[in-house]
Amino acid sequence: MIRHRDVEQLQQLSQAPGKTLTVYLDVDQTNVANRKRQFETRLKDLLRQLRAAHEDNEELATTAAEVEEIIRRLEPTGKTLVIARHSQLGVTFRKLLKITLPPGVHWGNGAFMRPLIEAFDEHERFGIVLVDSKRARLFTVFLGEIEEHKDLTANIPPRPDAPSQDKQRSQPRMERRHDESVTGHLKIVAGEIGRLLDQLEIDRLIIGGAVGPASELARILPKRLRAKLVEVQPIPVTATAEDILARTAEVQTRLERAEELEIIRELLREVRKGGRAVAGLSAVLDNLNEGRIWKLVYVQGLVVEGAACEACSMLFDPANERCPICGQPLEREPRMIDRMSRAVLDQGGHVEMVDGPAAEALRQVAEVAALLHS
Ligand SMILES: [Zn+2]
Repeated sequence: MIRHRDVEQLQQLSQAPGKTLTVYLDVDQTNVANRKRQFETRLKDLLRQLRAAHEDNEELATTAAEVEEIIRRLEPTGKTLVIARHSQLGVTFRKLLKITLPPGVHWGNGAFMRPLIEAFDEHERFGIVLVDSKRARLFTVFLGEIEEHKDLTANIPPRPDAPSQDKQRSQPRMERRHDESVTGHLKIVAGEIGRLLDQLEIDRLIIGGAVGPASELARILPKRLRAKLVEVQPIPVTATAEDILARTAEVQTRLERAEELEIIRELLREVRKGGRAVAGLSAVLDNLNEGRIWKLVYVQGLVVEGAACEACSMLFDPANERCPICGQPLEREPRMIDRMSRAVLDQGGHVEMVDGPAAEALRQVAEVAALLHS
């Protein structure tokens, strides 16, 4: 679980004097290209490129070797590995994230935190409350990880189910008492989760559990929480953390897809009217080389080939053999999108990977596009 203290540690590293090497590496084992530790090869390529751009830099060479050694011993369990290494201070920040971030290596004063900070800002924090007549469990899901916060088991008189004859007469009264205490329980739950969800800074809320209590809880929620309620889902109160995480991921994916689609629609509108967006590799590269990209947008998993000039750090279409700027021979770059993401981030821009319907919409014009600074 990534927490604020991780970010604080990274923030300290970002203010440390001297150089820091920051690595964002795709280690996702569901991707065949990363199996058999091929992510190590990818890292070596990235570091080789970086060292070519900072020729004869001893400190970078030392730090790069240290990072390679750290990754050689790594057991990949998440999707993205983040490492920031400050060799002089002997400090390493290391985190395996369960989300995808644009891969890249960065060498500079302080750790390169922006992709991580943006993920913190952009990813929504979900609260999930599972409730039945006696029990309530509270979870949060953030950056693909789940945490359980509270298991409230209120002291509620049991509902009489198989009454014996002499008890029959008091049955309606006991039922009423039970219903009242369930409502009482739900009120306590509503108050308690209200307090906790404020503390935990929840953006969205999902309620699950037994259908009756779940919809009752949704009704009596404080107004500010009701505004955050996405849906009431029939998730059993006894569900495992993995199940809850999977169900939340479905809801999250649906919401994200809708937002991505909105970005693509805006982008396509701008492209059509010749406004502040371009589509296609060549057009995007032209704008990238001139530092005009505000947001690079591409279909997730896209691999295209390109060419790079190590002398002037410009990026080109693979058809070019020599740098149109300085005339030097160009190097082939088999993973152009990663290289472009890194360049956009280094220029202070943003990167958006799209999937699903948004990717389909984007594909109508190109697989890579960009919104430009106005
Ligand atoms: Zn050049």
